[in-house]
Amino acid sequence: MARSTPPTPSPDPALPSPWEEPEEPDRERLRAKAWEIHRRLLEAYGEPDWRPHYEPVDELILTILSANTNDRNSLRAFQQLKERFDGDWDRVRTAPLEAIMEAIRVAGMYRQKAPRIVAALEKLRQEQGGYTLEALQDMPVEEALAYLESFPGVGHKTASIVLLFCFGQPTFPVDTHVQRVSQRLGMVPPKASPLKVKQTWEALLPPETYYPLHLNLIRHGREVCRARNPRCEACILQDLCDYYAHQGAPSPDGRSPAPVP
Ligand code: SF4
Repeated sequence: MARSTPPTPSPDPALPSPWEEPEEPDRERLRAKAWEIHRRLLEAYGEPDWRPHYEPVDELILTILSANTNDRNSLRAFQQLKERFDGDWDRVRTAPLEAIMEAIRVAGMYRQKAPRIVAALEKLRQEQGGYTLEALQDMPVEEALAYLESFPGVGHKTASIVLLFCFGQPTFPVDTHVQRVSQRLGMVPPKASPLKVKQTWEALLPPETYYPLHLNLIRHGREVCRARNPRCEACILQDLCDYYAHQGAPSPDGRSPAPVP
């Protein structure tokens, strides 16, 4: 995938953050803001290496395991599942649910996740003739997203991660960090859905930015723009941020951006 070096950074310090669907030329100004955010995050965190990815089916199972837990626990659960069944998805599909639950317990919600994994494997076996997602490689992105979302427990985020990370398909995954930071910055309205956030970034920036921007927004959300007590005083995006401009401090619950007048 091409590197995602932004074009000439916008010198405009007063880039607006429209809350409604912007029209030209505001959309162009929002686009300039998007590039500037991307540029500063690249400057701060660098261009993330293309992380070693798993086989698409592995990535699918891993992301099913990642619901409502952290990366460390979901990865441990995934590794334990692979070890317990010698990496044989057919054995997992036909195993007693209790054995799967035991293997993935560390990921939490194991009573829901175990049947989802079995259902996903069963669906693959029936529709793909085996434990493979290679057919997605040649599918149009929207069709591939819809197919992945038809798996139990797979939402837009998981589907986008599989497509972007495994196939390099142009789709922008939105997790809770990306959603929160995008909302606070004013790239989207304060209560914008993950789908709205995804569509906005995709409409403003080219596909080669999706991977680094996705990872850098997550890192910024974890390290600086935290859900509680965002470290605005140390933030390199402060002058671009609606949350800071309108409030300058965390909301009383420390969680959500203040309503923008
Ligand atoms: S200024 Fe504060 S709210 Fe805005 S992006 Fe930075 S840390 Fe988040």
